[in-house]
Amino acid sequence: MTSALLEIRNLKKHFPVRKFLKPTAWVKALDGVTLRLEAGRTLAVVGESGCGKSTLAKVLLGIESPTEGEISLEGRASSSLSASEFRRAIQMIFQDPYSSINPRKRAWEIIAEPLRINSSLSRAECKERAVELMRQVGLRPEFAERYPHMFSGGQRQRIGIARALILHPRILICDEPISALDVSIQAQVINLLIALQDELKLAYVFISHDLSVVRHLADEVAVMYLGRLVEHGSRDAVFRKPSHPYTQALLSATPSVQGDRLSQRQAVQGEPPSPLNPPPGCAFHLRCPFAQARCASDVPELREFDPGMNPRLVACHFAEEIAAKASI
Ligand code: SF4
Repeated sequence: MTSALLEIRNLKKHFPVRKFLKPTAWVKALDGVTLRLEAGRTLAVVGESGCGKSTLAKVLLGIESPTEGEISLEGRASSSLSASEFRRAIQMIFQDPYSSINPRKRAWEIIAEPLRINSSLSRAECKERAVELMRQVGLRPEFAERYPHMFSGGQRQRIGIARALILHPRILICDEPISALDVSIQAQVINLLIALQDELKLAYVFISHDLSVVRHLADEVAVMYLGRLVEHGSRDAVFRKPSHPYTQALLSATPSVQGDRLSQRQAVQGEPPSPLNPPPGCAFHLRCPFAQARCASDVPELREFDPGMNPRLVACHFAEEIAAKASI
């Protein structure tokens, strides 16, 4: 098998909970996540808050180091890459453009900053590249000298996108990139991301709780629950026949993606358990309408499952039975 652009194998990130400086427990924010991403593709990572998707973004960006597991870029382990090589390959678009840009800098300076830090280009050369990128993301070059407060929310997100692109990354981590924006401009930013992906062959890790956007944008969908993948497959497979009860519940809670069959299902009940004290067995068993005795003791492995022309990976002991019931 050829090397993927990005490969994550058995990634774990456990945070210690300390009492008098000694670790007394561990929060397993990521607990054995394996994923692949090819150039020009979009992998959406979905799940409720606290499922581990933001920790995954931080580990991929090198903000947090993994407790265990491997990340490789085009077959090269991340540990063998310099920080600068890594930064050039993977960049981030933040959820809140307001908090991620310096209010005292001009638009071009904000966009050019990563280039200034990671290259020996002159100020004029950095500015030229920044202005070029402003055009590419749909901002007028004459706005280059303006300060962030002089832009709308959507324009500020375009500044964030231009800054993320200035080092020519191969992968963009998009962490809820439209959730802080006005509904009227969300579609514009999504269309811009699609156009840039096409033009630059970018790969996206798209972190979102908004499944209607995911359905529009993703090639593959990875569903996370309490630090683990519970379902992973192509967008069509996951949206047409969600096989894990948690995925089914997430989809049925999203009105715009309800199909006839999905609309009969229950939205996910209750709150996710504390990651500090997850339940034994299947972490979803306290909320799962299909739970059986085995679910409270045995952790389901992520395994191949095909409910009929829609192969994917799913972590559920009873996926076959649940699919059979759904088709009656
Ligand atoms: Fe529900 Fe059991 Fe499947 Fe977990 S393993 S999702 S509790 S049926």
